[in-house]
Amino acid sequence: MSIQGSANQFVCDLIAYEPGKPIEETARELGLQPEDIVKLASNENPLGPSPLAKEAMRAAIDEGQYYPDGGGWKLRKAIAERYGLGMESVVLGNGSNEIIELLCHSFLNPRVGLIAAEHAFVVYKLMAALFGANYVEVPDPGFVHDLDAMAEAITEETRLIFIANPNNPTGTLVGEEAIDRFMDRLPDHVVAVFDEAYHEFLADPPDTVKYVKEGRNVCVMRTFSKAQGLAALRIGYGLASESVAGLLQRARQPFNANAIAQAGALAALHDHEHVAKTVANNEVGLQFYHEEFAKRGLRFVPSVANFVLVEVGDGDAVFQKMLKEGVIVRAMRGYKLPEWIRISVGTPEQNRRCLEILDRCFTD
Ligand SMILES: *Cc1c(COP(=O)(O)O)cnc(C)c1O
Repeated sequence: MSIQGSANQFVCDLIAYEPGKPIEETARELGLQPEDIVKLASNENPLGPSPLAKEAMRAAIDEGQYYPDGGGWKLRKAIAERYGLGMESVVLGNGSNEIIELLCHSFLNPRVGLIAAEHAFVVYKLMAALFGANYVEVPDPGFVHDLDAMAEAITEETRLIFIANPNNPTGTLVGEEAIDRFMDRLPDHVVAVFDEAYHEFLADPPDTVKYVKEGRNVCVMRTFSKAQGLAALRIGYGLASESVAGLLQRARQPFNANAIAQAGALAALHDHEHVAKTVANNEVGLQFYHEEFAKRGLRFVPSVANFVLVEVGDGDAVFQKMLKEGVIVRAMRGYKLPEWIRISVGTPEQNRRCLEILDRCFTD
């Protein structure tokens, strides 16, 4: 008998998450220099990490022999103050992806399940599979979460309901009115999870933290990976009512958020200048892509995040062609969108190069 026979069937069946192709790997495979490659595949910050975070992280390296503060006191306190919450409502994660996993650890098993939108962030589905739990997918007409239909889909077996807002890969947002209506219908046995990784990019973000303050069964997830440019450090957090947060605290590893990341995140939390520059660069880039796609008659989903989904015909082929020219984008087959690619907003120069290479895919 192979060892697979001893393993959990739902782990054997799992299809691993396929991340954006790394620059180094692409350079190695194509014989290019890493500096000649543009990565617009993982919604990373084209302006780099927050400069204040870089300084704080350099200083933190000198204390590298010590285990981190497992309780994350300073960072959690600063985050709690930012939102007017108690520290007990803040849970740090090894990226906000870990918060997703902690929620699944706390609530899922093979007898219950979670609900997400049809084109939601794919990690929810992978996590449900990892816990052998039931995954219910609700259609999202026009690529927008249909919260009424999602509320309708709740059953006795539902434990978690994920709302990525704005959603990745669609870049679409549901507004506060729809959220309020949804929360009015949320039964007590279900936790509503608002994944707000792109929150900083929104001009008029819906308020979901109010539900944490009200002690409702919600978890609002944020990350330092996107607007603050700290994706490499793996640091994010969940804001939740004390009872939900207490469960997540029990489910996590003692030192899940490393000390360098905690120091960087604390500094980045106060680096309003870097976030403002990042958001300004993003607005210019989004407008550029939207206008240029429209000019070419390409179908795209208008985005409020830092990436755009565009229909190109054969997404895998376009991805491969662009890769050979040193521009890494993301094919969307894994999202059941084989005709689309997702492009992250870069600097104006990177955006122009990306579009030029994309154009070449259609002419040759
Ligand atoms: C990028 C992203 C995250 C952030 O993941 P981290 O683990 O914090 O890097 C979470 N949710 C969505 C929808 C994302 O696109």
